[in-house]
Amino acid sequence: MTQLRRQRNVKIVATLGPASESTETIRALYLAGADVFRINMSHGTQDDIARRHRAVREVEAAVGRPIGILADLQGPKLRCGVFARGAETLQEGAAFRFDLDPAEGDAARVCLPHPEIFAALEPGSTLLVNDGKIRVRVTNVSPEHADTVVEVGGEISNRKGINVPDVVLPLAALSAKDRSDLEFVCELGVDWLALSFVQRAQDVHEARELVDGRAAIMSKIEKPAAVKAFAEILEASDGIMVARGDLGVELPVTSLPPIQKRLVRLSRAVGKPVIVATQMLESMITAPVPTRAEVSDVATAIYEGADGVMLSAESAAGDYPVEAVTTMNNVAASVESDTVYRQIIEASRTPSRHSVADAITVAAREVAETTNVKAICCFSHSGTTALLAARERPKVPIIALTPLVRTARRLALSWGLHCVVTAEVDRFKMAVVNAARAAREHGFATDADRIIVTAGIPFGQPGSTNILRVAPCDEKKIYAGGGED
Ligand code: ATP
Ligand code: MG
Ligand code: MG
Repeated sequence: MTQLRRQRNVKIVATLGPASESTETIRALYLAGADVFRINMSHGTQDDIARRHRAVREVEAAVGRPIGILADLQGPKLRCGVFARGAETLQEGAAFRFDLDPAEGDAARVCLPHPEIFAALEPGSTLLVNDGKIRVRVTNVSPEHADTVVEVGGEISNRKGINVPDVVLPLAALSAKDRSDLEFVCELGVDWLALSFVQRAQDVHEARELVDGRAAIMSKIEKPAAVKAFAEILEASDGIMVARGDLGVELPVTSLPPIQKRLVRLSRAVGKPVIVATQMLESMITAPVPTRAEVSDVATAIYEGADGVMLSAESAAGDYPVEAVTTMNNVAASVESDTVYRQIIEASRTPSRHSVADAITVAAREVAETTNVKAICCFSHSGTTALLAARERPKVPIIALTPLVRTARRLALSWGLHCVVTAEVDRFKMAVVNAARAAREHGFATDADRIIVTAGIPFGQPGSTNILRVAPCDEKKIYAGGGED
């Protein structure tokens, strides 16, 4: 088993795609720092998805560490069809047509298989392509097509997203494709399911019923309505993605930084993982080095205490997927060793609620601040206890021990959690022995060090943490220590 521990708290999510679907590349991405892999259901068939899923699980088995898989449902996103040459460049001032003809597109037209758009468009309406990079204006429209003139040109390629900011379209939360994909990936066994274009808590409840406990649910916040209804959506979800691509098209881009800050703070306050996504290292799609602004953007998310930062096209379809992960990893190392980082994390922590488990978790963090312990080790079945520990953003690493591999994979997304699958324990002393062994074997502590162990007695009741012990890592000392067992 490779004993790989990360030297950082923030997690890295890498989207898989043509640039990164071989087992070797996924392994290289993992070694460079990717903790969770995102499979976007918008691109590729169910067979492609199953192949990517299998490749991640192969890498997981080879490296001996739990790896999270996040399947992202397309949702009601409007997309164009494909092009005969894969891509075309639209020049400013040129005419370009969208129509219902499924034939491959060229420099003059492409399929837009959504009759409801043509019904809603009017001459003068704006269409935005590829997260707003291309802008065209409608000159003439019929039930089967829209003629447009290009106002801001650029490259349009297969299945790019289209936004119609001035037109309100009736959107169902889950399309027939989404339902089929949902069932497919839940049966395949993914750890997280991301819902696109969530608008209200009800959308999450509907998906949760279909998922039926087979995956945790992440809501992508990318509609103005979702920003407004955020409190209820957060309550209904297991995790949040600040999906800045579509959000920055639907709202002015300048509104993104305050929204991102607010969403991260509110998610942290309830201890649910929050991921910042889209265009984090966009220039690395075609360049081996990032811009200063991109490095600063990744750093901002880390200073805010986000659980994860995400790569989209950079790792899915870019020329430098491994370099992009390495860049995120290096930015994290730089930020997290800054004393200002700890100050910001501490200043932005909110007091916890008032259960015994909360109090024990807070105490664990405080003990770690005042004594020289090397890790906080917590035992978790469902993951609840580990999430409480992550919520505290302590200054020492957290080792989350669980007998369930699915819990370990889910928690791979959460800030600071190093997940270890262990045997089921039924006595506290065994828990301490296992925790100490994990801390030693995974490079967190030596025999001379001490760790904190928290657990719930009796074992097996979710969220029932009621014991905190500062324990030696040396097995002989644990057994010599006596006390409760
Ligand atoms: P979403 O709104 O879900 O983020 P997206 O189209 O922006 O959808 P991303 O996963 O963010 O997709 O990836 C960004 C770009 O990378 C895509 O537009 C596409 O060009 C490319 N890409 C990503 N995944 C794939 C894939 N599996 N196959 C082909 N291209 C892909
Ligand atoms: Mg995207
Ligand atoms: Mg999106």
